[in-house]
Amino acid sequence: MKSFEYLIPSSMAEALNAVREDGTVAKAAGVDLLDLMKEGLLTPSKMVHLRSLKELDGLTKSGGLRLGPNVTLAELAAHEYLTGSYRALRLAADAAATPQIRNMATLGGNLCQRPRCWYFRSADFPCTRKGGSECFAYNGENQYHAIFGNQDGCAIVHPSATAVALSALDATLKIRSVEKERELGVMNFFVAPAEDVRRENVLANGELITEVHLPILAEQRVSYYYKQKEKQSFDWPIAEAAVAFNFEGGVCSDSRIILGAAAPIPWRTKAAEDFLNGKTLSPAVAREAAEKAMLDATPLSENSYKVTVFKAVISRALLLAAGLDPINQK
Ligand SMILES: Cc1cc2nc3c(=O)[nH]c(=O)nc-3n(C[C@H](O)[C@H](O)[C@H](O)COP(=O)(O)OP(=O)(O)OC[C@H]3O[C@@H](n4cnc5c(N)ncnc54)[C@H](O)[C@@H]3O)c2cc1C
Repeated sequence: MKSFEYLIPSSMAEALNAVREDGTVAKAAGVDLLDLMKEGLLTPSKMVHLRSLKELDGLTKSGGLRLGPNVTLAELAAHEYLTGSYRALRLAADAAATPQIRNMATLGGNLCQRPRCWYFRSADFPCTRKGGSECFAYNGENQYHAIFGNQDGCAIVHPSATAVALSALDATLKIRSVEKERELGVMNFFVAPAEDVRRENVLANGELITEVHLPILAEQRVSYYYKQKEKQSFDWPIAEAAVAFNFEGGVCSDSRIILGAAAPIPWRTKAAEDFLNGKTLSPAVAREAAEKAMLDATPLSENSYKVTVFKAVISRALLLAAGLDPINQK
């Protein structure tokens, strides 16, 4: 590994000044960053340790909830505020990785981690995301790759579980640089390959996420996150979904159905949401919503099984959000 300078900033201003410099990277817990360095995909000249900045910590009530990007997945998974309508985020954080990783990994790092595609992660494959001319998943081993949004030169799936939950919960992000602060809806944070195949988010050089905000949600709003893995112990998802909707008298409205491990960005399924709005939720309605969600899927040679898995995942997430048993009902 090439040697690099390590900066422990004592203020936000010092960190923001440092991350403007070429070759400098921000590090939260380093779970993904150090993997990328060991894989030879990243060779920074300077690393800025964000976890020394207290203003990036914490989870507080503030016109909804204010989450510092340094909050860990373990903290999210256990937090008393992430119940009721915010439950999807707690479940997503709790389902990611392993207890040891969740104790270190941060929310900011989880949102900005790079894809886990084995062709992207291997220095032997000069894929489009690394500036090459080919997506090796198209004619290669693509069983874990995207089934939506996969036609634009790259078939990664976005790796972040919290991104899926935050998208269902209409979160916004505060982003700061030395020059300015901006705010954007979390779904506008992610970049699809058609827009730019080399990046997963809109962060410009010198910008940091300084806050994640969850709006006040209606009391009758429910949410859930459901993840299907290949093995029982820790694993990445083969399919995950976060759902949120108002639920009054058994009827759903203003629904969000967001899929993860499905596309290069968290994937919103408008057709399923539109179908669900105004319906009385039942196992049959949940199944039909899940069918609608899969209508436009474009699976690759080895991953059409994901369509079937997603149907079960979506329908279970909807029923569990409403407190219905997804298994023992007709
Ligand atoms: C075995 C294993 C299994 C895993 N399973 C899952 C899973 O099932 N689901 C899932 O979602 N994840 C999973 N992960 C990924 C893991 O959750 C992430 O790697 C971790 O959350 C990254 O957080 P970090 O704090 O270590 O980020 P770092 O590695 O420190 O940083 C990652 C990226 O985020 C950027 N960054 C960090 N904070 C900020 C900020 N405030 N502003 C701007 N940029 C920032 C860094 O610059 C870097 O580019 C798994 C990881 C492993 C190793």
